[in-house]
Amino acid sequence: MRTVPYFINDERVDGEGDLLVYNPATGEVNAHVPIADAQLVDNVVAIARNAATTWSNSSLSQRTNVLFTLRQLLVEHADEMAAIITQEHGKTIADAKGELARGLENVEYACGLIEHLKGDFSSQVADGVDVHSVREPVGVVAAITPFNFPIMVPLWMTANAIASGNAVILKPSERDPSAAVRLAELLKEAGLPAGVFNVLHGNADTVTQLLEHPGIDAISFVGSTPVARHVYLTGTAHGKRVQALGGAKNHMVVLPDADLDIAANAAINAGFGSAGERCMAISVVVAVGDVGDKLVDKITERMDRLTVGPGDDATSDFGPVITKEHRDRIVNYVASAPSDGITVVRDGTSWASKPGFFVGPCLLDGVKPGMKAYDDEIFGPVLGVARVATYADAVAMVNANQYGNGVAIFTRDGNAARLFSREVTVGMIGVNVPIPVPVASYSFGGWKNSLFGHSHIYGPEGFAFYTRAKVVTTRWPLPSESQIDLGFPRTR
Ligand code: NAD
Repeated sequence: MRTVPYFINDERVDGEGDLLVYNPATGEVNAHVPIADAQLVDNVVAIARNAATTWSNSSLSQRTNVLFTLRQLLVEHADEMAAIITQEHGKTIADAKGELARGLENVEYACGLIEHLKGDFSSQVADGVDVHSVREPVGVVAAITPFNFPIMVPLWMTANAIASGNAVILKPSERDPSAAVRLAELLKEAGLPAGVFNVLHGNADTVTQLLEHPGIDAISFVGSTPVARHVYLTGTAHGKRVQALGGAKNHMVVLPDADLDIAANAAINAGFGSAGERCMAISVVVAVGDVGDKLVDKITERMDRLTVGPGDDATSDFGPVITKEHRDRIVNYVASAPSDGITVVRDGTSWASKPGFFVGPCLLDGVKPGMKAYDDEIFGPVLGVARVATYADAVAMVNANQYGNGVAIFTRDGNAARLFSREVTVGMIGVNVPIPVPVASYSFGGWKNSLFGHSHIYGPEGFAFYTRAKVVTTRWPLPSESQIDLGFPRTR
């Protein structure tokens, strides 16, 4: 049985395998993955610190060259990368290629690092005095990533962290760790010096060692809300800067004037794509006014045409969920829904009796705050429909929710859409766009329990997070201008 290697100091390194990696489409064990202990974490942090010193002094053109080459290599290896992702995550090949394409955007953005790292210069701020600012790398970044985007989320962090002159230790999800190792090999091939990018595998204990290690300067985390909160509190208590992105419950508000065919298509794509295992998936459609019955009919009719199957079968619309435990958890939400007064319009849970970790598409009508199927992030192919009387009720529902990652509004009324985007307490908003993941030149991040820390990830905020500012004030006085003056320096 294959054991997924670490990638340390430019080498694949074997470890003791303890965790199991499955092929979710068959339910069979695919590989073992080792767990890094405190000693190994210590060694890798020392390697990364050493590498960071040299890399922080590399020229910006050298960094740009590495990232340009990485981009090309990822394009050339797209089929291979997608196959790795599909085998361990379960998503369809098309979806895996889509995630890689969105990750590539971040590499392309990072290629503009000379622009992104530019400082300011002010001439003659006082007589004979100039000021300029520079941004310097923070040092060693720990990147801790979730299972649902095994290449895109590592690229969200890695591209900008390396471009900024840092070394990175990536701790990918133990459930689909192989894409991270392949990324490390491609970075080596792209010319990244040894030790600048390392991959360590492990579990919660490994993460805790990274969070507490004095040799780590910054933590980028993406995962579930309880872990994000813990990562933020522990990392900041140990003096690190932390950005910790958490879970979500994304609403799609459909106003009475919306084109219901467009809205139904969007609900299907955003609700069931990737088996609903996206942090920006739509999990609640909020039908405003009298659109509920028509919308449920249109969504149901489309659901009945979906094909569930292995990710490497080109006819599958979506694949299995990540583990047996996660599948059973999803099934329980659907099974217990009627006791909360929810109508199960479509029940795909019979898929759970087949080999692999499948759940078919499920539609729950009548979800409301206070019901588990509404309050919790189910993270599966389960779409809820909430019915409200007015636009104001829809906004109130969105804003009362503990999460604030993404939200969408479907309408033909520009004023309503504009008002909505100003009134909702959510970080990313789509107007007739169901999954409004910002392009790489805008930063990604939610509000409320979807983000701990003030910095959004990637884009301009990514560069700011991975660098520290310095401001240099300069004077070249003539000896005749030099004098003793103990007053506070003034600009006028
Ligand atoms: P997870 O929180 O279980 O795991 C994320 C990472 O944290 C993994 O590397 C894991 O090994 C580690 N981890 C797990 N438990 C830990 C603990 N107790 N202490 C320290 N580290 C721990 O998340 P997941 O199940 O892999 O991913 C799905 C979740 O991620 C969903 O909640 C989803 O909404 C969220 N997510 C959010 C975003 C976003 O941008 N906001 C993006 C993708 C996924």
